[in-house]
Amino acid sequence: MRSCKACGFFIARRYSANMSIAAIIVAAGRGQRAGGAQAKQLWQLGQRQVFLWSVDAFLAHPLVTHCVLVVPSGQTDTYATLCPKDAIIVEGGETRTASVRAGLSACERFGAERVMIHDAARPGITPEVIAALANALDTSDGAAPALAVVDALKRKHGDRITAVDRAELYRVQTPQAFQTTKIAAALRHADALVDDLAALEQYGGQVTLVPGDERLSKITYADDLPRLERLLMTPQPAPRFGTGFDVHAFAPGTAVTLCGISIPHTQTLAGHSDADVAWHALTDAILGAAALGDIGDHFPPSDPQWKGVDSAVFLKHAVAIARDHGWDLSSCDLTIICEAPKVKPHREAMRRRTAEMTGLPLDAISVKATTTEGLGFTGRGEGIAAQASAVLSPRAIQD
Ligand code: MG
Repeated sequence: MRSCKACGFFIARRYSANMSIAAIIVAAGRGQRAGGAQAKQLWQLGQRQVFLWSVDAFLAHPLVTHCVLVVPSGQTDTYATLCPKDAIIVEGGETRTASVRAGLSACERFGAERVMIHDAARPGITPEVIAALANALDTSDGAAPALAVVDALKRKHGDRITAVDRAELYRVQTPQAFQTTKIAAALRHADALVDDLAALEQYGGQVTLVPGDERLSKITYADDLPRLERLLMTPQPAPRFGTGFDVHAFAPGTAVTLCGISIPHTQTLAGHSDADVAWHALTDAILGAAALGDIGDHFPPSDPQWKGVDSAVFLKHAVAIARDHGWDLSSCDLTIICEAPKVKPHREAMRRRTAEMTGLPLDAISVKATTTEGLGFTGRGEGIAAQASAVLSPRAIQD
């Protein structure tokens, strides 16, 4: 358990219990390509040098246990005077691969089981990307943030221009995350020119891509700095919060549907669709947070096409249009109110199904149940009520 530097509370590890994760920030380049006399990781970006953006982001993240900064040989003292004392500074080599190997050796010395290898020239690392990479390593040897290619691509052969299908193409960023033993072994066998992901793949490792972020763009040329400055220094809108409430009455039947799960019962719920009262409340919470009306505006009960439909259609639509308006669903909390059926035995299945439909990680979805102590229409067993809350975050991450 570690304490959060922002709020002071202890934070339980949500991912990979007891797994130590080290960040390796490669800042060993001398920056000739960027055109300045000074290496680009030492350029000023806002109030800090470029490399410090990454150092600070990793040190502040509760999942990251160590932060290793790889610097040009002979410059340890220069960086030590600029760096927080929690960072571990090691000297790099003549090539990027040699510098990564130097960082990995340090990580192996203090027993880090997982590493995130990051270029110091990408100052826009976000907590969300770090968390997504840590999560991906639970099932993968390696993981990297990637953005889909949105521009049209062309290939030029002499005077002839042909289209390139971009459907399977991605722009891969850093940090790239690995099981330490796997990447260390892969790099021992790798060609010096191969990048970390390619080395792992050549060694037989499996790689997962997670959503990248435009803020993770690399500083390659001097012109990149003002663009990135605008991207990183522009304040993001605050998250939005929405609530939803719904009720459906019981009718003759043998099961009710809650969060997409069919739960055997002595009655069913009446409704035009599948009467999934829980997902209707959640759909309204998402639409509410984005100020996009309510479920009835988007799916009028008078429209025959929605008769008997799976409420996953409504939920996925709400997530998608919120996204189109610049908002990503980041968490939700549901309360089911009824005397029967018992919800608790089905709660985990309901959370998993909601995760599948919304794209949220499981630990961002809460499902609770309560009764009204025999009072009111739910107490009399006339139906089920549900309430939901949803948090939407400004959409900066693209996939
Ligand atoms: Mg409803």
